[in-house]
Amino acid sequence: MKQKLVELDKKHFIHPSSSIQQQLEQGPKTIFDKGENIYLTDKNGNEFIEAMSSLWNVNVGYGRQELADAAAKQLKKLAFTSSFSSFSNEPAILLAEKISSISPQSLNAVFFTSGGSESNDSAIKLARHYWRIQGKPNKRKIVARKRGYHGVSSASTSATGIPEFWEMAGRGEDEFIHAKAPFEITVNESIQSLVDTIESVGSKNIAAFIGEPIMGAGGVIIPPKEYIQQLREVCNQYNILYIDDEIICGFGRTGKMFGIEQYDVIPDMITFAKGVTSGYIPLGGVIISDQIHEVLKIKSKGVMMHGFTYSGHPTSAAVALKNIEIIENENLVENSKNMGKVLSEKLKKLQSNLKHVSNIRSMGLIGALEMVKNPEINERFSPHEKVASQIIESLFQKGVISRAVTYDGTDIICFCPPLIINEEQLNDMMNRVYQAIQEVEKKLI
Ligand code: PLP
Repeated sequence: MKQKLVELDKKHFIHPSSSIQQQLEQGPKTIFDKGENIYLTDKNGNEFIEAMSSLWNVNVGYGRQELADAAAKQLKKLAFTSSFSSFSNEPAILLAEKISSISPQSLNAVFFTSGGSESNDSAIKLARHYWRIQGKPNKRKIVARKRGYHGVSSASTSATGIPEFWEMAGRGEDEFIHAKAPFEITVNESIQSLVDTIESVGSKNIAAFIGEPIMGAGGVIIPPKEYIQQLREVCNQYNILYIDDEIICGFGRTGKMFGIEQYDVIPDMITFAKGVTSGYIPLGGVIISDQIHEVLKIKSKGVMMHGFTYSGHPTSAAVALKNIEIIENENLVENSKNMGKVLSEKLKKLQSNLKHVSNIRSMGLIGALEMVKNPEINERFSPHEKVASQIIESLFQKGVISRAVTYDGTDIICFCPPLIINEEQLNDMMNRVYQAIQEVEKKLI
């Protein structure tokens, strides 16, 4: 059976973000079969610790009966109905209210989508619409940052600051400009880059800034508090909206419900997806401020020509409600904070005991380390040594799934385990990380 699945995969399944060549030569990397707690099991019976919560999203862990029950109950009662033309349904209404109640004060209305990319495209369109209905149709450009990741639909690919994503079909829109990330430069330099970028096109042409609190796919870049606070001030000063992309950081990941709360800053919009349902069913959305909502209420005319078939999907909403209930009842935000301290300690140990581990960082249960040739001068390995990829492979052999970020010649290893992880499991995971790096380091000498 397994060999048959391999052949069918090669023949018919176009994998997202994968190498078609590699798939043809080697078949699927593995075929997962089961998930329980922080573990995945494949068709060969191999067990893995999912150190990335799959794609930074399975916050409550795998195999949650309550979520399966919530989906089954709603599927039987009312699987789907549209929210167009002001039709509504109970789970979507209750979820909009719940998300408003847990998000930072003054963000109290929600537009639903099916995932992260759609959420960012929606936020960008809403920002442009917001200015247009106030008589400022030229305020359209979007400021984002290099190494930022916002998805793969049209506007979100354009907002993404990783050029590799533009190669496939071009950048999409040209109304996006990228400032430097707060990575390997000072807060002043990164804020200055933001100001220079805004001034290069003029704020009268800019609708919004979009950025993640912690830049995930760009390599887990964790800015200091004053950077995000100054960023908010710059947006105020230049009269541009602040879209906070919480698609990874939302729903407890950093040790607060939303990542931006770590910085005591209130954005104008929050985009979310992933952790809102822990990946059990697709769902995303945009939370907007009261101020934006007021403008929409007063100035909008006719139908808002934007909506997805699955905006306000009742089954997705029912699963999200149950998922948030689990996060709250099991104190998973608190656990993220507490286990985050353990993760941070473990990363420090790796850095002091292993020769090439450097630039460790974490907040709650998201973290990273970098492999560098000479930590004293931050000298990188040559990309052809593929150090990060070797570590990911070695980890895989040791039953841990992690993720490498290698843009701009970096060798970054990321960690983002489910928020239910306990100390024993975290120790086990990080011991295997230690062994994998040690093994690769031996080959480097
Ligand atoms: N924004 C951020 C910060 C993300 O990490 C991602 C996905 O990894 C997205 C947006 C896009 O989300 P999706 O893949 O659900 O479209």
